[in-house]
Amino acid sequence: MPGIYLDHAATTPVRPEVREAMLPYLKEQYGNPSGLYQLAVEAEEAMEAARKTIAATLGCETEEIYFTSGGTESDNWAIKSAVEAAKKREDFGTGGHRCCHIITTQIEHHAVLHTCRALEEEGCEVTYLRVNEMGQISVRELEKAIRPDTVLISVMTANNEVGTIQPVREIGKIARRHHILFHTDAVQAYGHLPLPVKRLGIDMMSASGHKCNGPKGIGFLYVRKGVDLPPFIHGGGQERGKRAGTENMPGIVGLGMAARLAHTKMAYREKKTAAMRDYLIRRLLNEVPFARLNGSLRYRLAGNCNISFQFIEGAALLVLLDEEGICAAAGSACSTGSKEPSHVLKAMGLPDNIAHGTLRLTIGYQNTMEEMDRAVECIKKCVARLRQNSPEFEDYMSGRKMPLSFGIRL
Ligand code: PLP
Repeated sequence: MPGIYLDHAATTPVRPEVREAMLPYLKEQYGNPSGLYQLAVEAEEAMEAARKTIAATLGCETEEIYFTSGGTESDNWAIKSAVEAAKKREDFGTGGHRCCHIITTQIEHHAVLHTCRALEEEGCEVTYLRVNEMGQISVRELEKAIRPDTVLISVMTANNEVGTIQPVREIGKIARRHHILFHTDAVQAYGHLPLPVKRLGIDMMSASGHKCNGPKGIGFLYVRKGVDLPPFIHGGGQERGKRAGTENMPGIVGLGMAARLAHTKMAYREKKTAAMRDYLIRRLLNEVPFARLNGSLRYRLAGNCNISFQFIEGAALLVLLDEEGICAAAGSACSTGSKEPSHVLKAMGLPDNIAHGTLRLTIGYQNTMEEMDRAVECIKKCVARLRQNSPEFEDYMSGRKMPLSFGIRL
């Protein structure tokens, strides 16, 4: 058990109720929901109950939810199949339809970015929208980027590194007006923000169990009725013939329970989390010199604190914090081990040397104010220790170099 877990954007602990709900499906309830006997029917009923719970959290119909192996698969399915469907349309390649054009952003998760890159190699064209220093896109720029051959807009609901929330409703309106499909990667947002998909104008939405206190390896894709999305995995007739493979029953039941719990007293939990976040941010900015907050103060996930400390390496800070029992991240979990500065911070205009000194602390509702205090004390101590061995810091202290100007301070 770690001392203090502050990496909830990477994954969240499974709630005991979720674990309890899953256990029978790892024991006596091992039926395959495709069967016709009682054990199978019971599995099928449990699966449909989970689907119904999830649909209720989004205000959509049960048949609009497809179970997948998680956020990565949902993103791949939505994007690749939207392009495949467009290519099959009769008017493809005629008039202004030169090829398939996708609009996305520079700060998406790699599940979206690498999928788009793969499609570019097959002849698609992709516009990667810029973001401002807070990490938000401009809806005006989005609208300007639309072409006659644009087939999909894919913009994440909230960013996994800096927690910035995008203007989803406005994007939905633009997509509707231009008759373009709108997909959103809501992996970090689902279970933390209300997402009434119909009112937000979302056509497809990706979510993942392990970011909202559910199990790993399970997620879903919401697909609005009327969107004819081609199947992604071919095989049996599971998920109404769209996503073959025997269903992950423990995962599905666990995800259903996690979804139910996440949407019960959500506002209360998020408020508690945001209070810890604000306290942590305020103390770090006030008590550690040369620290800056990355992202927006207003449009920010409740649990996200992303701070850069000049004159240090984020990776080195992580090692020291680990020795103190604190789990944190330098960038997104997927980029850990990479020497490249985060593509998100780069897109927001942060210079490389500042981006290298970035710490992402992501809070969960189970954390406490006492843990925030302990984390601040450890971070102060570790940053000071690293700066003692930093030639850049020494240069600055001896007056040979000025620090770069810093952004948000409280
Ligand atoms: N999208 C975002 C925004 C994420 O943060 C993640 C995981 O960190 C994913 C997609 C991938 O989700 P999964 O781990 O369920 O494949």
